[in-house]
Amino acid sequence: MTALRLNWQPSAALLLFLAVIVIGVSATVAYPQGWFWAVGIIVFYHMALTVAGLLPRSKLLGPNWVRLPASAALNGQICITIDDGPDPLVTPQVLDILDRHGAQATFFCIGQQAQSYPDLCREIVQRGHAVENHTQHHPHLFSLFGPRAIYREIQSAQKTLGGITGRQPIFFRPPAGLRNLLLDPILAYCGLRLVSWTRRGYDTREGDPQVVLRRLTRGLRGGDILLLHDGHAAVTTAGTPVILDVLPYLLERIAVSKLRAVTLHSTVT
Ligand SMILES: [Zn+2]
Repeated sequence: MTALRLNWQPSAALLLFLAVIVIGVSATVAYPQGWFWAVGIIVFYHMALTVAGLLPRSKLLGPNWVRLPASAALNGQICITIDDGPDPLVTPQVLDILDRHGAQATFFCIGQQAQSYPDLCREIVQRGHAVENHTQHHPHLFSLFGPRAIYREIQSAQKTLGGITGRQPIFFRPPAGLRNLLLDPILAYCGLRLVSWTRRGYDTREGDPQVVLRRLTRGLRGGDILLLHDGHAAVTTAGTPVILDVLPYLLERIAVSKLRAVTLHSTVT
């Protein structure tokens, strides 16, 4: 990661953090007896940015899609994003449901899963959907990683997914949406955009399809980005991965509301 070809714009919060560090160090040099206050303020500010990184929809650390662009919202477009696949049992059924409703979705695939099921990954794209980057290994401690490890996870998934589908992902979503302040410049370097969501169903933990559906459709409108899971899906009392019970009703609601489910990348202006 030498010779950075960044078009990176540090966020205002990050610039302020850098200013706090510079002022803190300068003040300590001028008044060494006040070092405790300088360190305290820097640590406090760093903790505030850490908390911001643990709020998936926060924009404090840099750009973050929580809704589609205004033009897509005006056209009644919404985006269903489906994380943690491809899954050999669930994903084919998800694709059939989407086909039946003439809907497109965006699959945030884990590179390792895609390597295990490359044909399924290709089928997602062949059936009109998009595959985007959800890291190579889906590490749960991703938000604690340093720059090299973050870059490796992202770049490795880019290679895997791009190699399998023939199209380089242009969006990235970290595991559970959690990140740290190093992610934004690395995404800029990799040419990726961070995307979170407007609403999520918590369908890796919630097995009641009605509850998941209610969470996703509360205030449903053009521009929404919704999150479901084909991998790591919770199951209903009947043992069905919850997405399979939710998706048909969600797609009906979308149609009744005169909205259209499209891929994320089709909304890029
Ligand atoms: Zn995930």
